Amino acid sequence: METNMLIGGSFEAGTDTEESVLNPRSGETILKLAEANSDQINRAVGSARAAFAHWSRTTPSERSAKLLAIADAVDANLEELAQLEALNCGKPINEVRNEEVPAVADCFRYFAGAVRNMHTSAAGEYMEGHTSMVRRDPIGVVASIAPWNYPMMMMAWKLAPALAGGNTVVLKPSEQTPLTALRLAKLMADILPEGVVNVVIGQGASVGNTLISHPDVDMVSITGDVATGKKVLQAASKTVKRTHLELGGKAPVIVFDDADLSRVVDGLKAFGYYNAGQDCTAACRIYAGSKVYEKLVAELSSAVSTIVYDNADDTLNEIPPLISMRQRDRVASFVERTREHKHMEITTGGVIHSGSGFYYQPTVIAGALQSDEIVQREVFGPVVSVTRFTDPDEAVTWANDSDYGLASSIWTQDVGRAMDVSARLRYGCTWINTHFMLVNEMPHGGLKQSGYGKDMSMYALEDYTAVRHVMIAH
Ligand code: NAD
Repeated sequence: METNMLIGGSFEAGTDTEESVLNPRSGETILKLAEANSDQINRAVGSARAAFAHWSRTTPSERSAKLLAIADAVDANLEELAQLEALNCGKPINEVRNEEVPAVADCFRYFAGAVRNMHTSAAGEYMEGHTSMVRRDPIGVVASIAPWNYPMMMMAWKLAPALAGGNTVVLKPSEQTPLTALRLAKLMADILPEGVVNVVIGQGASVGNTLISHPDVDMVSITGDVATGKKVLQAASKTVKRTHLELGGKAPVIVFDDADLSRVVDGLKAFGYYNAGQDCTAACRIYAGSKVYEKLVAELSSAVSTIVYDNADDTLNEIPPLISMRQRDRVASFVERTREHKHMEITTGGVIHSGSGFYYQPTVIAGALQSDEIVQREVFGPVVSVTRFTDPDEAVTWANDSDYGLASSIWTQDVGRAMDVSARLRYGCTWINTHFMLVNEMPHGGLKQSGYGKDMSMYALEDYTAVRHVMIAH
């Protein structure tokens, strides 16, 4: 297991406070890692700054070749990376092996192709005797801060467009899930020139804060909580850094009376509970038409009660535990508070799973009202609320009544209604008769307090480059 950080092409251990890295399935400590000290953070930023001088001048084809080599290295080490991610996050091994690691490789391959196809407007004469052209150039040193829910995938989403665009990076994974970042750093060090990627580990309040406040960092990209995003904005304001914020979510799911119910139930069972709901797009806030409401609650509760977790044979598990005891207890407290209101009913789940590990039973809460905390706040756990609506306009109003604006879905067989409602929803993404599906060619990112800037797609490459005007006098 790699335990060293990557700073300017060499590997070194942190020397500051030690942090325990836990196995969420058992609660046991996997290992302890010391976080980066301030000198190490400074050297990581300095190495990225030094490497920027040559990396920013490489051609798209040269950078593309490096990204393809990283994708090949991910493929070649798929099993080891999958096992590490499963160990550190408690994820079912099949999910990581079959879905998440291949998605990481595909992300690097997508941006390897995208950067060779990034064009700007053709040169033209907009003032007599002068020719203008637009360039898209790298921004500089990017501090990338990743969360714990998809450690390797978030690393890929941040590194691939940044590197493709000609930037250099200092990445800080979550202090709870650093293992695959350290392993990928080792693989990337064999491929990339020294200093192009640096990985430092440690807590947000110490290492993360030092990094985002560093005067030599030009851009901060963070995926995390809204409160953390606000801290990034404050720190960035001191030197007017660019920011790219992928924050929380509370996805509304509008199920109209004409929806194909078995498809809805299968979808919600999968997309509301994947990764134990620790997903910013999780289908967690259901609005069901009054004619379909009772049947939906009954069938969803029955389906959710069959979700397999904590099986000794991990290949049978469908969802992981929560990442930590703190997160599990936070989820439990949300559910406990619903018991104080008689209009809500826990139709399945609702208790902390007995035994070791940070498991919480997959839960459905019926009868929730728009003003309820469970409808308004991000739980980030295996908990889905169902609210009844009678008027479609009311459903759209409720769906939009949220501080968040990341993802949403509409379930109906009426194409016209689907188009009308999707145009009225204020979310970065709206799925119709599905949820949760992401592809590297399409943008992912939020509105409102879910942040701004896109991951994946050509739009991400644009976010990690600066538009410049060059004018030539004839
Ligand atoms: P978090 O905000 O606690 O931590 C995210 C990262 O920020 C970690 O690496 C952490 O160490 C760092 N951090 C924390 N405080 C910091 C500070 N003051 N300065 C610099 N860095 C700091 O979030 P989390 O608990 O790891 O992740 C869960 C959150 O992430 C949820 O709210 C979820 O919705 C969100 N998320 C969003 C997306 C998206 O695409 N929008 C994707 C995944 C997760």
